[in-house]
Amino acid sequence: MKILVAGSTGLVGSAILDKFKKDGHNVVGINSKVVDLLDREATFSYLKDSKPDVIVDAAAKVGGIGANKKYPVEFLSENLRIQNNLMDAAHEAKVERFIFLGSSCIYPKNAPQPIKEEYLLTGPLEETNSAYAIAKIAGIEAIKSFRRQYGHKWISLMPTNMYGPGDNFDQETGHVLPALINKFVSAKESGSPSVTLWGTGSPKREFLFSSDLADAVSIALEKYDEDLHLNVGTGEDLTIKELANLISREVGYRGEIIWDHTKPDGTLRKVLDVSRMNNLGWKPKVELKDGIRKTIEYFKNVKGMVVA
Ligand code: GDP
Repeated sequence: MKILVAGSTGLVGSAILDKFKKDGHNVVGINSKVVDLLDREATFSYLKDSKPDVIVDAAAKVGGIGANKKYPVEFLSENLRIQNNLMDAAHEAKVERFIFLGSSCIYPKNAPQPIKEEYLLTGPLEETNSAYAIAKIAGIEAIKSFRRQYGHKWISLMPTNMYGPGDNFDQETGHVLPALINKFVSAKESGSPSVTLWGTGSPKREFLFSSDLADAVSIALEKYDEDLHLNVGTGEDLTIKELANLISREVGYRGEIIWDHTKPDGTLRKVLDVSRMNNLGWKPKVELKDGIRKTIEYFKNVKGMVVA
């Protein structure tokens, strides 16, 4: 069985590639340097030659609340093109299994918590990332359509907010957890008296370490073949303020935290109901504190700092 991981240099794709390699599978990773998935012809030609049996689609244009708000055109258009090209080419190349990875932002802004899979399309979306969310919802619908029309054993997984080594730590475009690691580590390094974070700090978020998602992908590939997308998360969340305290403590930063209320909070809560995934025998293994520690270590190494 040949497995292809699309987006293999990203946070999620690299963890999935590692997992399948460690498990002794015949697995290859592709990134935009190998084949540009925005290029339809190149995607068709690549899959015709490489003939994988399984594709895990972790290729996407992703970013934090700042990037999503600033570049909705790219988040909608690029994600639609990447996933359509890859799925259409996989269909033509007769790829047996396809795992499409989405995001917990697909759910309505005011969905009851914890969010069950069936709450999809029951209400309006959060405005700060609706372009990205609609592209991902289109992906879920495409997977379902390929199943109905052609009987493909293709499925969708919806992970919560992911983090880990290989993330985008940029302070402007990154997600909150890596952006905060960068902010606190940099402030400690430069001796800055304060760190400015966005919004009120009161929204709650759920975080999953990338290797735990890789385990979920492997289990779903083995055990799941149904129309309904599956949530992947811890089922536990904390406020952004609590997250900031956790990271600043781990980093050893003792300065002041300033909350910039001109920046958006985004949705107030989006914790996932993960009972379906748990029923398949999957549970996350990495505690938030340990995952944050590993991610800080990775970031310091990348920055060429000696890990304290
Ligand atoms: P979201 O989960 O799609 O809203 O995306 P993010 O991970 O980017 O943001 C989560 C929350 O963290 C929002 O409430 C932000 O206002 C808050 N936040 C606080 N400081 C930062 C920061 O420096 N960067 C980011 N991306 N978010 C921040």
